[in-house]
Amino acid sequence: MDFSYAPEDEAFREELESWLDDNLPKFLTEWGEQDLGESDPADAELSEDENQAGPGSAGIMGAMEKRRAWQRLLNTGRWAAINWPEEWGGRDATITQNVIYSETMARYRTPGIYNANGLWQIGPMIIRWGTEEQKQQWVPNILNAEDHWCQGFSEPEAGSDLANLRTMAVRDGEEYVLNGTKIWTSSAHLARWGLFLVRTDPNSIAEGRKHDGITAMILDLEVPGIDIRPIRDITGEEMFCEIFFEDARVPSSCLLGAEGEGWAVAMGTLGSERVGTAGLAVGMRHDLDAMVSLARSNNPEALNDPELRQRIARAHTDIEYTKLLNYRALSKILRNEKNWPEVPIAKLQWSHLAQSLAELACDLLGPEAMVAKGGMGTVDGGSWNRLYVFQRYTSIGAGTTEVQKNIIADKAIKLPRK
Ligand SMILES: Cc1cc2nc3c(=O)[nH]c(=O)nc-3n(C[C@H](O)[C@H](O)[C@H](O)COP(=O)(O)OP(=O)(O)OC[C@H]3O[C@@H](n4cnc5c(N)ncnc54)[C@H](O)[C@@H]3O)c2cc1C
Repeated sequence: MDFSYAPEDEAFREELESWLDDNLPKFLTEWGEQDLGESDPADAELSEDENQAGPGSAGIMGAMEKRRAWQRLLNTGRWAAINWPEEWGGRDATITQNVIYSETMARYRTPGIYNANGLWQIGPMIIRWGTEEQKQQWVPNILNAEDHWCQGFSEPEAGSDLANLRTMAVRDGEEYVLNGTKIWTSSAHLARWGLFLVRTDPNSIAEGRKHDGITAMILDLEVPGIDIRPIRDITGEEMFCEIFFEDARVPSSCLLGAEGEGWAVAMGTLGSERVGTAGLAVGMRHDLDAMVSLARSNNPEALNDPELRQRIARAHTDIEYTKLLNYRALSKILRNEKNWPEVPIAKLQWSHLAQSLAELACDLLGPEAMVAKGGMGTVDGGSWNRLYVFQRYTSIGAGTTEVQKNIIADKAIKLPRK
């Protein structure tokens, strides 16, 4: 592909860089330079670019207000939701501009935003599927970080096989009555609103058409009958939740799209999750450089170890390869070609790299890197230990490793089925 950018794309980059130069240093001074601790499982669900802030030990809870302030500041320059249409405060950004944005934000190590699920997935879906009234009610508050949103799709028996979901919504006059359980809903305990998938046709699973009869609903999480219980994760933080519905009543005006159209709405949502992953390689290169320079001061002997030196070289190569893979996917989109199998391969490559970099960090930094936050003699306050355990999610979220491999085997290699 041609690696040069068109003049309008260069102008876009310059405008963004100049805005960041004018605003970011001041913001960081006001809110404290340390931006560690904002890798956020709330954003982990398929919003990889939002984890660019680097390894962290403090967790999201302490950082929410800073994130809110950052998103609001971005919004003053119309830099919060560049994909959104201009009339809703976005920039109608092209795919190339998305890549530039994602790489630039990663290079500047910008703070995380308040609500990646809302900005990247739910907002665009409301703009696309919502009625005028729904858009007016919800879209501006997502953009301005007024309300936090979560995405309630997964259930105990519906993860990879999402269409197996069974939370029931039964119509009763102008309302629906909800019963069932959701699980792994990121940041539901922080959210006021959520986009949920529920089953409105009770017969569709038994009749072998499980993708039918699913409906998307926007739920006010403060109505009676909704019990949200945080789950403690491997990092010791409580970032995702179980949600129990017991006769929760939801007005029919909260349907997003028509009854039974939920699968199409959801697929749109998951499609938006791929936007902006180009900055990952930049963020990973930064992490690699940071761990090597820390090893120089904390554990210099490690840098003489031939096996570790090989792994550093391999990581550099993998990062470069990931960047090129993203560019190839991009150039296919620009040529109106299908950009896969690059997409499932990039997902696999991302989770492999994220986990192997975290392992490399621990080996380079020596035993102290394994000391968790609060322990004695931590490196970076336990950041690297947290990163090591946190990155386990990368082979589960955004489609598990096995499911991605199935897709590649089935659709790209076309392995025979039994
Ligand atoms: C950090 C994090 C945040 C999340 N946030 C959200 C959220 O905000 N909202 C939400 O709705 N969900 C969220 N999830 C849930 C996520 O979408 C699911 O975990 C994911 O879809 C996998 O589903 P599951 O956990 O039920 O695993 P399962 O689908 O039960 O899979 C279990 C194992 O079986 C394997 N497997 C499954 N099917 C196949 C197959 N056909 N062939 C081969 N192997 C298979 C899987 O690869 C996996 O190893 C989050 C998950 C994580 C880790």
